[in-house]
Parts: sequence; C-alpha cells; structure tokens
Amino acid sequence: MRWLDGVAVANAIRAELKPAADAFRAAAARPPGLGIVLVGENPASEIYVRGKLKSAAEAGLAAELVRLDASASLGDLLRVVERLNESEAHDGILVQSPLPGAMGRDADRRVFDLVRPDKDVDGFHPVNVGRLVQNRASLVACTPSGVIELLERSAIPIAGARAVVIGRSDIVGKPMALLLLHRNATVTICHSKTPDLARVAAEADILVAAIGRPGFVTPAFVKPGATVVDVGITSLTDRAQVERMFGAGSKRLETFDRRGSVTVGDVHPSVADVAGALTPVPGGVGPLTIAMLLKNTLIAANERAREAGRTGR
Ligand code: NAP
Repeated sequence: MRWLDGVAVANAIRAELKPAADAFRAAAARPPGLGIVLVGENPASEIYVRGKLKSAAEAGLAAELVRLDASASLGDLLRVVERLNESEAHDGILVQSPLPGAMGRDADRRVFDLVRPDKDVDGFHPVNVGRLVQNRASLVACTPSGVIELLERSAIPIAGARAVVIGRSDIVGKPMALLLLHRNATVTICHSKTPDLARVAAEADILVAAIGRPGFVTPAFVKPGATVVDVGITSLTDRAQVERMFGAGSKRLETFDRRGSVTVGDVHPSVADVAGALTPVPGGVGPLTIAMLLKNTLIAANERAREAGRTGR
C-alpha cells in the first residue's frame, strides 16, 4: 500500500507558484492580492485562516484578513464583499465558512452569489460552477481540484478508471465528480440515500470519500488495490471512539491523550490493508486545498491583468 503524500504535493505546487507570483508582481507593480473574510471566532476557522495567510505570504501573495464581529449582520458581510469586489488590489475573495447561524440559512448562498466570478477563488459562484459543468472553468473549487493534482502528480491513472464519489455537496462531491468525468473516468456519485453503498463503492478503481463521518469507509467498501482518497475531516474528542477506530496502544490514541482531540477522516484505518494507495488524514487532501487556493488567486490575478490589458482599463 502506498501513502499519497499531500504535504509533498502541496509543497511542490507552492514552489511553482512563487516564481509565478514574482513575475506577476514585476509586471503589475503589485503582488497578487487575496482578501479573506472571517466572521466571528470559530476556533477551527481561526486555524484554517491562519494557515491560509501564512501560506499566501510564503508564496509571495498579499493576503488581507478582514474580520467581522460574530454579531455582524449578513448586510455587513455583503458590504465587505462588495468593497472587495471593487478593489483593484484584490484578485481573489474568500469568505470563510461556516457563517454564524444568525445570518440565516441561505447566507452562504447569498455571499457566494455576490462574489465577482473573476475573483471567486473558491469556485462556488454559479457562473464558475456552470463553466465547470461545461469543462471550461478556470476557477474550480479548491478541495476537488487539489485531489486531481494529487492523483495526477502521483501517476494514478484517471482516464478509463471507474470512480465513485461518496458525497454530493456543492463544494466537494459534485465538483469532484465533474473533474473526474472530464478526465474520462466513469463516475458514480453516492449519497445518504444510495442503497447498498458498500457494493457500489467496491466497484471503484478510485474511491473518494467526502462525507464527514469518521471511519465510515471500511474494507468492505474497497476493491483490493483501489486508490482511496479521504477528504473527510472530523475532530474527535471522545476517547472511546478514538480507541474503537485506532485500537488501544495506537499512536493516534497517544496523540489523543496528549492533546485531547485527534483529526480523522472518513476512511477507517483498516482500509490500508486493502487499498493500493491511500491519502492520510491529516497530511492528505487538506494541504492541497490551501495550495489550490493560492493557485486560483494567481490564475485570477493573471486573468484580470489580461482582461484589463485587453479593455485598456
Ligand atoms: P456536506 O455538505 O455535509 O456533505 C456530505 C455529503 O455526504 C452529503 O452529500 C451527504 O449525503 C453524504 N453523506 C452523509 N452521510 C452519509 C452516509 N451515511 N452515507 C452516504 N452518504 C452520506 O459535507 P462537505 O462540505 O462535502 O464535506 C465533506 C467532508 O469533507 C467533511 O468532513 C468536511 O470537513 C471535509 N472537507 C475537507 C476539506 C479538506 O480540505 N480536506 C475541504 C472541505 C471539506 P446527502 O446529500 O444525501 O445528505
């Protein structure tokens, strides 16, 4: 069994971005700019945003964090997005999820719809989703496009493969399936209403789990030798659950005893005995999501510069 090293692939992508960011800076007399909006003080979001700011700075991008109080209204947030939409210095805009529940159930949608499509480095705007469906997108959701980079740079064949994606969210499952389809995989999408899920999953040469249920994918879901990509991220705080999943005396349980939590994926550790290749959690898909955010910012910056040159603005 081969571990697919997301950290190494993300580092390789980031190393490629640095000269590209420097070239943009030399031509445009400013660095590529990314505006990150964080509402409230969700601890996980704080960690994600810190990671994004640090990686952006290392890659030569100018990342600005705009913070809004947890009590901010949806109107306040939409006004910040409008300001970033108008800003010359910001090529990319990212509004960190989740938004406070008080903003309402459709707040995410309202925000994603307002971000200018040419600055939509998350790839969530309906225009960019539509372009993805037509296989002509330049800004694609970061996590699924990171999975593709990981597969391609690990020389896992996609064309002709049977691929099964478990999860159909707009941000992971659906774009993941489309990206695999456009690379000529034969794709099945599964979800919570799929009957006999393990049997369907076990047909896959490439199995992507994007569910958010720790250890859900067991060896029964996996064809021997298949490539298994674990997108799920859950922080476990229940010791008994960690022990059930990883066993007494395991390294993970030691980590749990030191820290009081461990981050786990949707794939059960015993899948390593069956799979041909597997992404770890942490250290698999997560680092690629950030690398692709930086890559999207650079794509947006270059496209905006080309468009400005074309229109003389
Ligand atoms: P989501 O919006 O909650 O979607 C979860 C999907 O899983 C849904 O389509 C749901 O089916 C399906 N599902 C849930 N329980 C199921 C079950 N028992 N059997 C079959 N399907 C089931 O989650 P998401 O935003 O796509 O994220 C999925 C996971 O990826 C989460 O753990 C999240 O933290 C992680 N994630 C990781 C990264 C990264 O950088 N690595 C980035 C984004 C997300 P229905 O549609 O039928 O409800």
